[in-house]
Amino acid sequence: MTQGLKNRGRTRADMDERRQAVEAFSGAKLTTIASCPYDPQLAEKNIENMIGTISIPVGFVGPLMVKGDSADGEFLVPLATTEGALLASVNRGCSVITAAGGAASVVVKDGMTRGPVFRVRDARHAIQAANWMEENFDRIKAAAEATTSHGKLLSANPFVVGRSLFVRFTYSTGDAMGMNMATIASEAAARLIEQETGAVLVSVSGNFCVDKKPSALTYISGRGKIVLADITIPRSLLEKRMHTTPEAVVETCFRKCNVGSSLSASLGSNAHIANMLAAVYIATGQDPAQVAEGSMGTTTAEIVDGDLYFSVRLPAVEVGTVGGGTRLPAQAEALSMMDCLGKGKARKFAEIVGAVVLAGELSTICAQDAGHLGAAHSRLGR
Ligand code: NAP
Repeated sequence: MTQGLKNRGRTRADMDERRQAVEAFSGAKLTTIASCPYDPQLAEKNIENMIGTISIPVGFVGPLMVKGDSADGEFLVPLATTEGALLASVNRGCSVITAAGGAASVVVKDGMTRGPVFRVRDARHAIQAANWMEENFDRIKAAAEATTSHGKLLSANPFVVGRSLFVRFTYSTGDAMGMNMATIASEAAARLIEQETGAVLVSVSGNFCVDKKPSALTYISGRGKIVLADITIPRSLLEKRMHTTPEAVVETCFRKCNVGSSLSASLGSNAHIANMLAAVYIATGQDPAQVAEGSMGTTTAEIVDGDLYFSVRLPAVEVGTVGGGTRLPAQAEALSMMDCLGKGKARKFAEIVGAVVLAGELSTICAQDAGHLGAAHSRLGR
């Protein structure tokens, strides 16, 4: 077994040998995991100790009409999940949104963060270090940007508590989600700060980023891309296709998303934003652990001129169309279904994500106020 763990080879033969060692150790037959439809070397930057692949069912929803700044048109969106009824529900939302003329979906802020923590002697030392950072931002920026050709340091915001100095670095990261990029750049910037101020770097990630954890900081100020998506659905269309009324949707959204979320002290107030994010992230090679912060969205419903106005605010859409898991063949194919693979596509993709989340929220809230949720799950998911 230890031989398997030590074996860092990336070829198919290496992978098979490692998996056989796991089979011998565990007594489990891994015949399905063994199948890998591509050269395992393609995944060398995505995993260690590879023994095969896990396949997850993937389907599509749409056509979904999106009227964004970068995404403009009708899209088929790939979703990967094992939750029966999810795609049927999101698809219903897509069809109503498209019939209503399409969802507006816009990226309003774009910046990936890293938040190192330094140890300082005392509060005065922290203030001196923070002042040095403000006066020498250009030097910090140069040190960070020397590590990447696409990453640009936008800001470095200090925060002091006791003998801990936090700095929240924010980067524009081109078409990459940017977490490796921001980490590498922040380490270089932090070394310069250490050298010039005497503050001692304790961790490049001081939980002030805030990566893969829900937080009030990200809920308010965002991480990755903040996306706003909305739609006005004519009353007659809602009644005909969703079998509900604007009044019922508004009441369900208010009592569930606003009152219920507030009562339970949830970070975010929505029906199930995590569901759409997880399914689209898995299908397209995003980092699914970042659903933790992505889930903190806000869903609202109002009646405007008798029709239903419906919106989502997503504070943390952390997606890329280059790098990370987007390099893997199936995930790259899924991105190409929306013409979202590669350079110049990240904002377009984020806007499509915003619209598909809106569709999922709309459909689920309509199903709940019409009393259809349990029936749909027992018919499609059991
Ligand atoms: P990456 O694959 O590590 O880096 C992106 C690469 O693409 C860089 O080499 C960049 O070059 C290059 N690139 C080429 N064209 C680009 C373009 N148009 N825009 C931007 N970059 C371009 O990906 P990442 O997005 O930085 O990191 C994603 C990975 O980080 C995921 O696999 C995720 O699971 C993982 N992750 C890491 C941490 C961590 O703490 N390190 C935390 C969470 C997640 P240049 O750099 O030269 O510009």
